[in-house]
Amino acid sequence: MSEVKFRGAHDLPPCSISVTHELTKTGNWRNAKPVFHKERCIQCGICWKVCPNACIKLGEYPEWDMDYCKGCAVCAEECPKDAIEMEDERVMI
Ligand code: SF4
Ligand code: SF4
Repeated sequence: MSEVKFRGAHDLPPCSISVTHELTKTGNWRNAKPVFHKERCIQCGICWKVCPNACIKLGEYPEWDMDYCKGCAVCAEECPKDAIEMEDERVMI
């Protein structure tokens, strides 16, 4: 499989227009959070492109804004290198 590099806003599908706004903060009701394994990452940008909340930024490597991540796991599912794992954040009582 060839690598795909996404580096510009023109690559974004319409559904991924940024929704990082006070009204869309989802970090306080998330059940699971993505944990990044940098050593596996090939910097393809797929996680950035598929995140429905546009809460992943691309620098040299992806970075997550956890205030807006809703824990949907799309990034983890779509990462071709399993560089993102979902970690349970539920508090057991
Ligand atoms: S878990 Fe969902 S909302 Fe959070 S960064 Fe991944 S794709 Fe985006
Ligand atoms: S975390 Fe996975 S999907 Fe995201 S840039 Fe790295 S290899 Fe690609």
